[in-house]
Amino acid sequence: MDLTAQDGGLHGDGSLSGAPSNGGLREELTEIVGHEGLVYRASELKVYECDGWTVEKNIPDLLVLPKTTAQVSAVLRTLHRRRIPFVPRGAGTGLSGGSLPVKAPVMICTSRMNRIVAIDYANRRVEVESGVVNLHVSNAVKSAGFFTRRTLLPRQPARWAATSPKIPAARTH
Ligand SMILES: Cc1cc2nc3c(=O)[nH]c(=O)nc-3n(C[C@H](O)[C@H](O)[C@H](O)COP(=O)(O)OP(=O)(O)OC[C@H]3O[C@@H](n4cnc5c(N)ncnc54)[C@H](O)[C@@H]3O)c2cc1C
Repeated sequence: MDLTAQDGGLHGDGSLSGAPSNGGLREELTEIVGHEGLVYRASELKVYECDGWTVEKNIPDLLVLPKTTAQVSAVLRTLHRRRIPFVPRGAGTGLSGGSLPVKAPVMICTSRMNRIVAIDYANRRVEVESGVVNLHVSNAVKSAGFFTRRTLLPRQPARWAATSPKIPAARTH
């Protein structure tokens, strides 16, 4: 498969071709997630150049911030059609460079998928979107005398998907 030829596809070095609009990719993704859901300015992308493993850095070409599962699906369909690799990111607190965009020019960040969908105290379960921060779950159940095990640490930003087995709606107990 030739990943180097298409406009809006991938260069051999893993970057996107056809900048600044990336062969219409930017417009197509904007239609899905809106202007507020797409970041492409270098100064804003710098925030996403690494996770907790700060030794290596690589700025993505495009950052997509979907709000719903349907948007995630639509974004993935678009990237798949164009044969463009991506890397998912939660809060970027991983310690091993897992969300570093190496030869994956598009980053999909779940930080806007931050709804706590349901709380089931009787069964000690919550249903959350994949961008929910652990601390927010603890805060939501605090008044009922509950907390999440992962929030015992002083550091709280890790997002739910990366520490839970199911995405984008993760259930835990
Ligand atoms: C000081 C410190 C203490 C920590 N203590 C704990 C602890 O007690 N318990 C614990 O479990 N962890 C702990 N961690 C590790 C950290 O919380 C985990 O690495 C967590 O997975 C990071 O979550 P994140 O959402 O920030 O993921 P990121 O750092 O953004 O990503 C981590 C990995 O998950 C992938 N990923 C992210 N979102 C998705 C998604 N929606 N779908 C598929 N893949 C996805 C990324 O590509 C990457 O490979 C600690 C980290 C630090 C820095």
